[in-house]
Amino acid sequence: MRRGANKPPEPDDPLCCCEYVDRKGGRSHVAACCCDCEDLDDACDRWLKRESQKADSLSQVTDTVTDRLRVPWIKGAKRLDLSLLPPLLLLPILLRIAALHVFLGAVVLIALPGMVLWYYYFTHRKKGRTLFFLSLALFSLAYMYYLFVTEIVSRGDVTSTQLATVTTGVILTLISLIHTKRGPGYVKPHLSDTHSTVTYHSPLPDKDSAHLNGVRHQVVIANRGAALEHRANDGAVEAAPKQTDNKKKNWCTWCRIVRPPRAGHCRICSACIQRLDHHCVWINSCVGRANHRSFLMTLLLFLLTSLYGISLVLRNVCPRQNVLIALLYCPGVYSQYSSALCFTCAWYSSIVTGGLLHLLLLQLINVSYNVTEREARLALREKTGRSLLGGLIIDTGVYSQGFRNNWAEFLTMADDSEPSSPTFTELV
Ligand SMILES: [Zn+2]
Ligand SMILES: [Zn+2]
Repeated sequence: MRRGANKPPEPDDPLCCCEYVDRKGGRSHVAACCCDCEDLDDACDRWLKRESQKADSLSQVTDTVTDRLRVPWIKGAKRLDLSLLPPLLLLPILLRIAALHVFLGAVVLIALPGMVLWYYYFTHRKKGRTLFFLSLALFSLAYMYYLFVTEIVSRGDVTSTQLATVTTGVILTLISLIHTKRGPGYVKPHLSDTHSTVTYHSPLPDKDSAHLNGVRHQVVIANRGAALEHRANDGAVEAAPKQTDNKKKNWCTWCRIVRPPRAGHCRICSACIQRLDHHCVWINSCVGRANHRSFLMTLLLFLLTSLYGISLVLRNVCPRQNVLIALLYCPGVYSQYSSALCFTCAWYSSIVTGGLLHLLLLQLINVSYNVTEREARLALREKTGRSLLGGLIIDTGVYSQGFRNNWAEFLTMADDSEPSSPTFTELV
């Protein structure tokens, strides 16, 4: 069933809807999911011979199994990421259990963020990509909207203008998210960087390729003498050592390119990103020069929609209380299951909103000081920045030109990257 295994696809022989390029670069077929697994064969052999398993044998088999879970798709089968499923199954079950009793509600609403945080640190340590957080964010938004329409709007207390406002907020958040997912702005290899003879002392990786948006890019390191010679002839001899120093400092050993200032390499995305801020698990992508503004816009739209939705729900289930007090004290809300479910969801949304409000606040402070999240962390580690308000503000003082100029630079910074069209699997 496996056609041309371990051979990369030829340009003149494109993939059919049931074929794909596997994690080892070979051409494979969805029907070959149960055979030809060397890792599994090796693990079984060792088990039958009662030999000890290799340290990474379980992760190798897991990687092969997850790589082979595919659905037929146009121009090649798409990988099915199982990390999508837990939020879809667990969130409705846990929220419905939490609505049964106030104590169950407290346990679930404390345990749920705890589990999400644990999973975050678990995946962060492995530097692996996961759709769990994006799936949780999107499904939470969809599920909260569904409950709002079915449980609150159906009672007849919400006006059509209020419903239209919440619906518009949800749609605008999704549009802004799609825009953010178009890409953070990948660093493109410059011709002079890839044709230089400078020997950098950083250890070079074994691999000579980088993956950008799932596409392998080959970087050529050759004919470096010509570039230096050319510069010398142009009278740039004095500037050459300084340039070489900068290049050495900005050399990415994974992508084998010289990064522009403020760019950084993301080990999760396996790419260098222009003006890298951070890798955001909630959008399953980096935040960089090309999508930083739309990232902040997504956060802002989500927070406004969420706060408005929560206030409408609380006004409905606790009509006699002030909205802020209703979240803490709403007598009799657990006497009716529908009201208890809405109240639990208002609490869940408030916890998510609180977390994202904190993130937005940090982002706004960083922009005001012209510092990226990556630069702030590096400055803290190397003790080169000024830490104010208990670490809430990190001022490196390198790029800051005053509050107004920093915001003007942020709002007008050019996006010279080529936007990539996100695929369906990237959006879900
Ligand atoms: Zn890189
Ligand atoms: Zn990244």
